Amino acid sequence: MRILITGGAGFIGSHLCERFLADGHEVVVMDNLLTGRIDNIAVHLGNPKFRFVQYDVTEYMHVDGDLDFILHFASPASPADFERFGIRILKVGSLGTHKTLGLARAKGAKFLLASTSETYGDPQVHPQSEEYWGNVNPIGIRGVYDEAKRFAESMTMAYHRLHGIDTRIVRIFNTYGPRMRRNDGRAIPNFITQALAGEDVTVYGDGSQTRSIGYVSDLVEGVCRLMAADVNTPVNIGNPSEELTMRALAEKIIAFTGSSSRIISRPLPQDDPKTRLPDITKARRLLGWEPKVGPDEGLRRTIDWFVQETSGAGATH
Ligand code: UDP
Repeated sequence: MRILITGGAGFIGSHLCERFLADGHEVVVMDNLLTGRIDNIAVHLGNPKFRFVQYDVTEYMHVDGDLDFILHFASPASPADFERFGIRILKVGSLGTHKTLGLARAKGAKFLLASTSETYGDPQVHPQSEEYWGNVNPIGIRGVYDEAKRFAESMTMAYHRLHGIDTRIVRIFNTYGPRMRRNDGRAIPNFITQALAGEDVTVYGDGSQTRSIGYVSDLVEGVCRLMAADVNTPVNIGNPSEELTMRALAEKIIAFTGSSSRIISRPLPQDDPKTRLPDITKARRLLGWEPKVGPDEGLRRTIDWFVQETSGAGATH
């Protein structure tokens, strides 16, 4: 296949590039490098099956040649970005989704939208299955991301129904692994960076809020299976094996890094979800997918990568 990935220089996008190239596909990446990094894809730049185009997908898009699949992964996704890049997040979720769907229509390509567990907001149903419509504050600081992705899902389904585009929607729960930005602002990169530097580890609020964390290789496998499946409605991908409080996550990371860091408390951001746990029954049933990497193993691999990054060794796994 010839595959276009918007946001392909980002954390998840770059892992998808690697997988598609390994599977023998051709890959075109479009990324404006707002939060993506050329370092993430530098290893592919000389590969004749790989092309990088620095471009903002909220503008009219043109891509030469055929495309079989378009994956729309472009968007800042860290809560720390929601305040910095609010309008750009709204634009890439709305205008960017419209443009990429238009391109899919013009090329006769299949389309996959990277959506999010944020569509469930601060959930009042636990765990969250795809049938839950969510609890989102549209005017809160997280609203820029949550509503952009909800709009993107709506637009994707409309193109499916009205134009017959073969679409997919993956709702991605907290995902982590190598190539997350050190200054990304999310819990895992923050805690690892702080613990490795021996600095205080910043837990927001009382740290009782929960997340469940999925390792990036499991997500990539889930996305590949969804691409190959005949499922147009949203599918959750996440790892429900351990629901962790943020305090427990911080303690784990301090222990795994052998750090002497202390945990300190910082104010809880507005609308921070109190709980989050994916119901993955649908992915299990329709994709035969199951997460394989538990939090302990995944965190150790991620810490190893951060250690090498910090020492300038430039790890690429
Ligand atoms: N968090 C924290 N300390 C940090 C960064 C995040 O305690 O330095 C908390 C945050 O308030 C949230 C959880 O960790 O409850 C997960 O936050 P993250 O930014 O990773 O993503 P989210 O799941 O909120 O989208």
